[in-house]
Amino acid sequence: AKSDGRRTYRFFEAGMDARAKARRGLELELRQAIADGGFELHYQPLLHLEGGTVSCCEALLRWRHPERGMISPADFIPIAEDTGLINDLGHWVLNTACREAVNWPDHVHVAVNVSPIQFKSQTLALNVAAALAASGLAAARLELEITEAVLIRDDEAALDILHQLRELGVRIALDDFGTGYSSLSYLQRFPFDKIKIDRAFIKDLGATGASSTIVQAVVNIAAASDMTTTAEGVETEQQRTMLRLLGCTEMQGYLFSRPVSGAEIRRLLSSDCEK
Ligand code: C2E
Ligand code: CA
Ligand code: CA
Ligand code: CA
Repeated sequence: AKSDGRRTYRFFEAGMDARAKARRGLELELRQAIADGGFELHYQPLLHLEGGTVSCCEALLRWRHPERGMISPADFIPIAEDTGLINDLGHWVLNTACREAVNWPDHVHVAVNVSPIQFKSQTLALNVAAALAASGLAAARLELEITEAVLIRDDEAALDILHQLRELGVRIALDDFGTGYSSLSYLQRFPFDKIKIDRAFIKDLGATGASSTIVQAVVNIAAASDMTTTAEGVETEQQRTMLRLLGCTEMQGYLFSRPVSGAEIRRLLSSDCEK
């Protein structure tokens, strides 16, 4: 039994070594891609549930790998965060999204995801101000999506950064609400402009009573504090109908559109405006 244990351990070690190597390889490729322009942004529209017009488009990062094709952010963002590369990447995302959004109709906002690491770097407000100035985008058209992770530790510092951003005139959305350590108390501590309700709650809408009760509670709290709500991952007409009944403000999901390229979003927005 003892030797079996040791053999298992050695296999485990070899597995770790391979994984560490793969990770190191990916890190080098990430660095290269930042330098070579290997990244692109795709955009997914958010729609008003009443009226159905597009209010905002969320920028979603894509890595076009020379051999492996499109790589999902879920596979490389964690590595970019561990290595600190997320700061350069986040800076690129912010600037690219602002430059794209100046081409859109004035009423359409652009939403940019901000990693907790980027958030803690202390230069976020400075970078945001620089991206707005360089692109000429009105601050009120930029929405920064942050997750609750930034609020968990170091509350005072986080609130300070949020207030700096608010002073610039940008909007702040709480992303993935309802996952992780999510707590309604965060909503009282900082006045977000928007709450994005995680897909986990939208998926079951209609099927069970529990999700609709939760969505209703979030919508009510948001309305009482002048925040809007966005339902993430809306895929069916039934979900859309439920969300309208519940009084949710916006929807985002495959039902209306997947994330699309910059050229496609411009086409989509120009036809949306003709309606
Ligand atoms: P997220 O911010 O929650 O973005 C929404 C994700 O849900 C996107 O996945 C989007 O493609 C997907 N989605 C939208 N509608 C539907 C739907 O109806 N059904 C389903 N099943 N999925 C839907 P994506 O693009 O793979 O991004 C995954 C995550 O990667 C994002 O989650 C975000 O956390 C992160 N991410 C993406 N771009 C950036 C970025 O520029 N910076 C940072 N820091 N993180 C990013
Ligand atoms: Ca997001
Ligand atoms: Ca989300
Ligand atoms: Ca998410």
